[in-house]
Amino acid sequence: MNGTIRCNKCHKAMKSPVCPNCYPAKGYSRVYILLYCAETKRHEKFRTDRDSFFLTYDRAERQLTMMRGDMDRGIFSIDNWLPGKIKARNFAAMFETFIQEKIEDADGNGKAPSTVKTYKAHYTNHLQPFLAQYDVRDVGCEKIKKFFKHLKDNKTVSVGYKQHVLDTLRTFIRWLYAEGTIQSIPPFPHFEVPKTRKIALDIDDQAIALENLPADIRDTFAFGMECGLRPGELAALKIRDLDFKHGILWVQRTYSACKLKESTKENSAQPIPLSDRAYEIAHKHAAGRFSDDFLFLNPNTGQGWTYNRLNIRWNQYSRIEAKLNEAIRHSYGTQIAEDGASPSQIQALMRHADQRSSEAYIHANVMKYKDIVNNRGRGRVIPMAQRESGSNPDRAIQGNNS
Ligand SMILES: [Zn+2]
Repeated sequence: MNGTIRCNKCHKAMKSPVCPNCYPAKGYSRVYILLYCAETKRHEKFRTDRDSFFLTYDRAERQLTMMRGDMDRGIFSIDNWLPGKIKARNFAAMFETFIQEKIEDADGNGKAPSTVKTYKAHYTNHLQPFLAQYDVRDVGCEKIKKFFKHLKDNKTVSVGYKQHVLDTLRTFIRWLYAEGTIQSIPPFPHFEVPKTRKIALDIDDQAIALENLPADIRDTFAFGMECGLRPGELAALKIRDLDFKHGILWVQRTYSACKLKESTKENSAQPIPLSDRAYEIAHKHAAGRFSDDFLFLNPNTGQGWTYNRLNIRWNQYSRIEAKLNEAIRHSYGTQIAEDGASPSQIQALMRHADQRSSEAYIHANVMKYKDIVNNRGRGRVIPMAQRESGSNPDRAIQGNNS
């Protein structure tokens, strides 16, 4: 007999109103009907009745009986059974369902809702413009390949970020597959991420590089290092971004493709603390000037810096191998990670949208933990009795080695 009623949570076929797998622990009562449809040559999934009510087992049973009746009489048509919203099955609608389900999951098991925020951002900024209009069942290898190419050519986001966007798409497609909406997972073309090792400078190397710069531009670069800014953000700083009362800098503007770009609502201004040195530099440069002026000026032009000019000056004078972004931002991240900052502290200080970027700094610094590995299990306090009797656990360890 064509068609089964399945638990919406575990996807097992059901013969009675409660899923033996999910009830009573979760009390889950939503079901769907899975039915092979000759018209579309696909297994179709019906999550709601014709009035868009979610199916319970009893409703599903009645509906399935009627559907089989139509099939027996040869008058079955899928359009009679799908409410318009579901019929679309388009990428946008399914992504919305995906997000809703992730939020429900988050409520249940406390999974970080920041993941959901990330998914949404990836969707709005990258997936939606390219894929939203398609039926998810038509998003196959060809479309994914095209999307890859489009993403690869995007010059405004980092390679790491692109990878995260692709991970989101992959997660969504796997979810569609698990849901039974698509029959197979299309092969993902291999996305080569050039693993160029970034150079991180320590405080001393930064000081040397700064000494090499002409005195009238030194402050600009020193400030960037103190705050871990992106070069485009450094060039775009205005005096009004500084809150001297609280010792805070609001990063809310950057240069993107040579255009000054203010933060949008989704990508809001983010505060970071000013170090003492950063405060001192900013205070000196802001004195007696207008709040809408750029904080740092190019002494050659008397105007604000451009991203390119900063790079040129750095390459010209620093006499250090690191690129500008590595010297100020990547070094900053590495330094705070080495000092033991947690992923969430790194995320806040570096203003990463995605904590995976912050975690990379922790992972890149595993060598710092060599002491932990060497001393593992040996940091125990020696019990008093043992100390008095003169037995030494260190000697015992050496004894084992010999
Ligand atoms: Zn179940």
